[in-house]
Amino acid sequence: MARYIGSVCRLCRRENLKMFLKGDRCYSDKCAFDRRGYAPGQHGQRRMRKVSDYGIQLREKQKVKRMYGLLEGQFRGLFRKAEQKKGVTGTNLLVFLERRLDNVVYRLGLAGSRTQARQLVRHNHFTVNGKKMNIPSYLVKVGDVIEVREKSREVAVISEAMETVVRRGIVGWLELDKANFKGTVKAYPTREELTMPIQEQLIVELYSK
Ligand code: SF4
Repeated sequence: MARYIGSVCRLCRRENLKMFLKGDRCYSDKCAFDRRGYAPGQHGQRRMRKVSDYGIQLREKQKVKRMYGLLEGQFRGLFRKAEQKKGVTGTNLLVFLERRLDNVVYRLGLAGSRTQARQLVRHNHFTVNGKKMNIPSYLVKVGDVIEVREKSREVAVISEAMETVVRRGIVGWLELDKANFKGTVKAYPTREELTMPIQEQLIVELYSK
């Protein structure tokens, strides 16, 4: 499957936002965004040009897509799903993004970043409700129990992530049972609980053109 293989720090610098895509490194003084908080490339330090409405909408979509590590097709697919669901399309989209299994594994602190979470899910390190689940795009439901498989509890990246999760904390709609390596989905997140600086309305406007 296609995936982005370039430098993820460039993405933070391009979107002018610390997106925490690299786990531990993001909290250290090695963070490229803290060191060079301007756009990447030869002209990155040039004065900002006036951006069109389309440009603003496009940047917002790119930012969210990159934050969750999705490619255009996957992102647009989720958007279509969000449109078909009752309620506010922008909020539906963000909730769908949050409900992805790779995001939930990351949010529970069982991986250092969403990229790492995706890899761990693909490598069969987790179960959902007791059954093996290796599909990162699986959308969790309320009551689902996500557990690190018995044989995977010694995996270094998982235990390291569990040690450092206190730094970012566990979101209110998930519950972590650290001793038993498992987490539960208590509810779907509300818009107020999604505190990342996202203006989802701009994405809706972009895709509605
Ligand atoms: Fe972004 Fe993390 Fe790289 Fe900093 S270290 S630029 S937060 S991915």
